[in-house]
Amino acid sequence: MTRQGWAERKVEQAQEGMDCCCITCFAPTYAKLILAEHKRAVRVVTAEIKRVKLDRHNYSVVTRAEMTKCLDRLLAALQKGRT
Ligand SMILES: [Zn+2]
Repeated sequence: MTRQGWAERKVEQAQEGMDCCCITCFAPTYAKLILAEHKRAVRVVTAEIKRVKLDRHNYSVVTRAEMTKCLDRLLAALQKGRT
């Protein structure tokens, strides 16, 4: 599958059962698809922040703090202008 395959598949699935898929009719669905991908990205990073914070075996206190800081910056960048 090409890199774009999954995205094209999501669009095709979303178009199924729609009477008209012109840009005007499909725009709200596009917005929902984009929002869903954004939510997934936020969910993934949030889960990783939780995992790092709870990990008491693999990282030193300093390393965990650095990783948490880095992930928090990543989350903030993801959410910038998206809330
Ligand atoms: Zn239409």
